[in-house]
Amino acid sequence: MSQPEHFEMLVLGSGEGGKYLAWHMAKSGHRTAVVERKLIGGSCPNTNCLPSKNEIWSAKVADLVHHADRFGIVTGSTATDMKRVLARKREMVDGLIAMHLDRYKASGAELIMGTGRFIAAKTIEVKLNDGGTRVLTGDRVALNLGTHATIPDIPGLAAAEPLTNVETLELDRLPDHLIVLGGGYVGLELAQAYRRFGSRVSIVEVGPQLAGREDPDVADAVLEMLHDDGIEVHLGIKVLRVQGRSGQTVSLQMRTPAGDQTVEGSDIVVAAGRTPNTDGIGLDLTGVVLDDRGYIAVNDRLETSAPDVWAIGEAAGSRRPYASSSIRNVPALRMIPAIAFRRSGLSVAVVGLCSVGVR
Ligand SMILES: Cc1cc2nc3c(=O)[nH]c(=O)nc-3n(C[C@H](O)[C@H](O)[C@H](O)COP(=O)(O)OP(=O)(O)OC[C@H]3O[C@@H](n4cnc5c(N)ncnc54)[C@H](O)[C@@H]3O)c2cc1C
Repeated sequence: MSQPEHFEMLVLGSGEGGKYLAWHMAKSGHRTAVVERKLIGGSCPNTNCLPSKNEIWSAKVADLVHHADRFGIVTGSTATDMKRVLARKREMVDGLIAMHLDRYKASGAELIMGTGRFIAAKTIEVKLNDGGTRVLTGDRVALNLGTHATIPDIPGLAAAEPLTNVETLELDRLPDHLIVLGGGYVGLELAQAYRRFGSRVSIVEVGPQLAGREDPDVADAVLEMLHDDGIEVHLGIKVLRVQGRSGQTVSLQMRTPAGDQTVEGSDIVVAAGRTPNTDGIGLDLTGVVLDDRGYIAVNDRLETSAPDVWAIGEAAGSRRPYASSSIRNVPALRMIPAIAFRRSGLSVAVVGLCSVGVR
């Protein structure tokens, strides 16, 4: 084993909270390191919030052009060039990565690219991306591990090699017919963007309404907007099995309130919840307790059950992916307005607690 290197502040995962904490601690004179396996700056700028909003903006342009005649503008024939949409998104992400690297350099926090795993309390072994290992210890440790898309246990689904948000936002082609499994925020924004680019889109949702954390009247308004866009929506279904392979042909058999049905598409994207990145990284050796779904148990100071170990972000006891929706559940902030889908045509804005939050 390599000789342990000592840091005053050690952060595992370079997501939203972790990177700002590291930059602040390093600037304040504490020897600080951040371990990150792939996404410099975390998933928000690389694969989630910002890339999705970037492509949604392209989709909004497509929608405006398609409806230009309503504004008295005459256009010729138009088409979506997904290669260009993708290139524009990648350009933005590359710029954000460069910006993050500058911030690391300026702060003095060391960014170590590799996969971390605890081998003892407050001791992380890093399998470096460039080869070799380093062992790091921290006086204080922050866990900023994030989540990944859950692939539900449905017969044939994993074998169909479904897309998640990550692969969907890397497509350089337009699916003929995209099946979106999950009618939450992520599924809805991907569904609408791809419909506007020109794909046929079907949303399949197990719950009785879309956007399950919103009030039913809000969900009804979203459903109407999607119908106007020409998106097929199936609610209250049970998926029985998936056959075929995403990117070729894929069929989804489902039990609906009106009987069994099959949806056939070219691609399937899974947006059916998130799983915390807490498995298989030696947390059992650290005294950090997880809840029954694998999220890190924290108190309201984000302290874990292990001394001098904190957890930040989505893997820290919160199961809510969108900051805007979490805000409504912080009692002191209940009157703060919440928004979702600001840049798409599905804009939802509310003030105060919704009935789902009250329950
Ligand atoms: C498509 C999509 C769109 C979204 N849009 C929005 C939005 O508009 N607004 C909004 O508020 N939220 C949005 N979200 C949610 C938002 O992206 C997340 O809430 C947020 O990025 C989570 O941040 P985090 O810091 O918890 O984790 P992350 O940013 O995911 O950071 C965790 C990091 O830890 C690294 N890591 C994990 N395990 C290890 C390990 N063992 N070793 C080394 N590194 C490791 C990961 O690679 C990752 O970089 C969206 C999510 C999706 C999927």
